[in-house]
This record gives sequence, structure tokens and C-alpha cells, in this order.
Amino acid sequence: VVLLRFAPSPTGALHLGGLRTALYNHLYARRLGGKWILRIEDTDATRAVPGAVDGIRSALEWAGLEYDYGGPHAPYYQSERLDLYHTYAHKLLDSGHAYRCFCSADTLAATRERLARTGSNATYDKACLNLTEEEVMRRVRAGHKHVVRLNDSNLPNRPAQADLIFGHVKDAHASLPTDPVLLKSDLFPTYHLASVSDDHEMGITHVLRGEEWLPSLPLHLDLYAALNLKPPHFAHLPLMLNRDGSKMSKRKGDVQVLDYQRRGWEPIAVLNWLALAGWGTAASPSHTGAAESDTPPPIPVPSKKAKKAAPDSTAVMTLNELIHNFDLSSLTHRRTVLDPNKLEYLNKHHLMRIAETDEGLTALAEKVHDVVKAAFPTSPYTNVAYIKDVISALEGRIVNIRDLPIYGAYFFLEPYFQGDEAIKMRKRLDDVEYRTVLESLIQRLSLEDSTKWSEDTIRQLLQDEESKVGLKQKTFMSVLRHALTGSSAGPSVATIMKILGQDRIKERLKTALA
Ligand code: GLU
Repeated sequence: VVLLRFAPSPTGALHLGGLRTALYNHLYARRLGGKWILRIEDTDATRAVPGAVDGIRSALEWAGLEYDYGGPHAPYYQSERLDLYHTYAHKLLDSGHAYRCFCSADTLAATRERLARTGSNATYDKACLNLTEEEVMRRVRAGHKHVVRLNDSNLPNRPAQADLIFGHVKDAHASLPTDPVLLKSDLFPTYHLASVSDDHEMGITHVLRGEEWLPSLPLHLDLYAALNLKPPHFAHLPLMLNRDGSKMSKRKGDVQVLDYQRRGWEPIAVLNWLALAGWGTAASPSHTGAAESDTPPPIPVPSKKAKKAAPDSTAVMTLNELIHNFDLSSLTHRRTVLDPNKLEYLNKHHLMRIAETDEGLTALAEKVHDVVKAAFPTSPYTNVAYIKDVISALEGRIVNIRDLPIYGAYFFLEPYFQGDEAIKMRKRLDDVEYRTVLESLIQRLSLEDSTKWSEDTIRQLLQDEESKVGLKQKTFMSVLRHALTGSSAGPSVATIMKILGQDRIKERLKTALA
């Protein structure tokens, strides 16, 4: 049975990269019917940010990524597991795979300089390895500050590095520092010792983490070898880039999960976006372009035959579908590009899927309720039931639910005829025809029984009216659309009329005639 872990350091808000790591842990664990835990790597007190753990937890909750609690491996805060790391450090000291180093920061700096001058790649001269046992114990007893270092000259066979995504990396050891520190002088472990100890103690079978940790892999494998432990499988997830190929960073727009939450993106769309960025057919910088959002690719229809093929990079998938389609072996080690156009495409299509059920539609309406009320404080038409109808009507047009007030302003307020769009539209319509259509419809509506109104009866009514006034359908509908919305695009006129209801329609027709 597989057990994975997402192991953030509480050094700030969760970024998209962290969310992607958590997501892939979730997908892989669930794909194999296993579990994953959240482990807080808080052994560096100098970098800890108050509230960061809560922020990470709430970001995961927003995303709907549920980690597994409890079990035999708690606590999941590394700061509460210090004894364990000391035990591991002692094992390494006892077997001669580690030693205590008493060098001061000044001595270390001077040593590094000296080594660099001689053209050596070493970062430490292993001076403390030469201290006698007695001398070491004397200094320890006297309370001399010291660290514990790995002794890299005396390791069992260095295992070949095999990463499930990056494969074998040549000369991976070359960039490691000499005898890396495992335990700091404040008795806190370094990331490496803590990570290896915990992954073993917790029974982690697969480590999925960001590419930035790939250079540490040889050191971790050394530690497993020195401890005579079987390492877990490793998979490093490639760096994510902006569309222009630059590294994702704070200054370049939104990187925090919270930004996406605030902006109103559907969490599943964000997950879908992150998931596909790393899959086989993911976008490369040349593959992307602004044109994409104008002509979105069709939604792939799942077919039996296509099932085995890697999903298209814009395939719209629920979390369960993502789990079902997840395949670690199809992940690419190429750096992945996050294209905002793809998020828009995915969000729009997820909105359509969510709105398919009444439950989903209600959730969307509730989510956007405050936004609508704030946008139209004087409108009497901002209750949740009404907003649900508006969302249904605009389905397939809305990219982000928070933009509902922009797409559907005329549902909440009287149409704005002074706008450029309305004026341009009106100019294209013939005055006589315009009046004829509206006057005839007003008359007809006064005979209508509004309690029996459905979209079908409205459609029928419009057809009758159209043949009565003898205009082309396109002209007839353009007149009505202008009078009812002041907008040149939108849902069908019958749908709009159903939502507005007879009283508001009559009012608008009269205003348009005035
Ligand atoms: N604590 C590390 C981080 O914040 C995680 C490294 C790992 O997963 O091993 O990125």
C-alpha cells in the first residue's frame, strides 16, 4: 500500500507550485488506493511565518485536496519530532558515517576560501574528522557548540540515482557540499536529516516533490545507504514557468493560491490546469498563444479507444477523472508552462459542468451572491434563486463566475441605451420596423396569461409575432434584444424574456419606445 506526503515548510502562503505538488501527491496516492499525509517541516525557526500552517491548510481545503489524518505516524510537525532526529544522528555517529564538527563560522569561511584558492571543489577540509575520541568527548562535556556532519568519505556504495521523472542524473554527487551538516548546533536537524528520518519512520513509499529538491537526492540516497535503509521511490516535479519562459515569481502576477481563490476561479479548474501542465502533451512555450482563448479547442469526448492516450492539455476533468487518468510514467521532466488562457478555458467549462446540477448551480449562485449585491446595490433582483436563473442563461459565456455582473448587467439593472454598443446596434435598425415590433409585442403581452409562461410558449409567441409583423427573424430578434438588453450578444431572447418576466418586459419595451 502506498503512502505519500506533502511536506511544506511554513514559510509563507501556499503557492501554485506547492499546490501542484500536493495535487500530484493526492492523484498518485488515490490512483493507487493509498493515502497521503500533510507533514509540516518547521525545523527552521528563523524562516517560520506565523499563521502559515493555517494558510496552507485552508488553501488545501479550498482546493478540495483531503489529506489523511492520524494514524501511527503522528505528530506531523517536525518540531515535535526532534528526539527522532537525534536518534538517527546518533546511529550515524556510532557507525562512523557522521562526526561532530566544532569549527566556528569564521574558521569555516577561512577554510572555504583556502580550498577555493587551491581550485578544489571541496567546501570543508574535514578537519574535525581528525579529532580523537577523547578530544571530542571532552569538548562535548565542556558544552562546546558543534554540528553533526555526514562523513562522505566512508559511505557504502553510492547508489545510482533513479528518479521516476528525471531518470538518472549524471554526476549528481558533484554539486553536493563536503560532509553536509545533518544536525545544527541548536540541535535542530537540517532538512535532509529530518526528511530522510521521517520518510523512513512514517513508511513513505513515494516522494513526490518539486524539482528544486532534485540536487538533494544524492545526499538523501547517501543517508539511506549509510543508515542501511531502503529508500522510497522519488519523483521530482518539473519547475513551472510563466508563458514567456521566466520562472514563476511574486512580481509576475498571481502565484499564491489565495489570489486564485479571491479572484473567483473554480478550485477544480485550477487543479485541472495544474495537473495538465505536467502531463505528456502539456504546453510548451511555443504551443501557447493568445489566439487560443478565442477559439477554444472542442471538449474532448471520452471514447473507449482514446482512453489510453494521454489526455489533451485542455481536457476538462473532475478530480475523480484526474485521479483516474493520472499516470506518473507519462509525466514529463520538461519545465511546464502555466498558460492563463488555459485556465480561462478550463474554468468556463468547469462552470458549465458544475451548473448541470441544481446543487452546483446553487453553490455558484451563493458564491457570487455578495458580488452581485455589491455591483447592483439598488437592484431588487439579486436573490439566489434569480441569480441561479441568470447563471443558467449565461452558461457557456461566463469565464469566471465573479464576472457575472459584467456579462449579465441587464438582468439586474435596466438596459443602458447610452452605451457605445447599444447606440451602434440601434443605428443599424430601421426606426419604423423598431416601433412596429415593440408596439405589436406590447399589445400582445397585454393579452397574455403570465402564469402560463414557459420558454416554449414564449418561443411560440415570438414566432407568431414575427410572422405577424413580417420581418426576417434576425431583424426581429435584434430589435427585441436591443430593447430588452441594450446588448448585442447574450442568451436567446426567449430565455431573457423568461427570466425578466412580463412586467419587466413591458416596462423595457415602453422605455425603448419612448
Ligand atoms: N519542506 C520542503 C519544502 O518546503 C519539502 C521538501 C520535500 O518534500 O522533501 O518544499
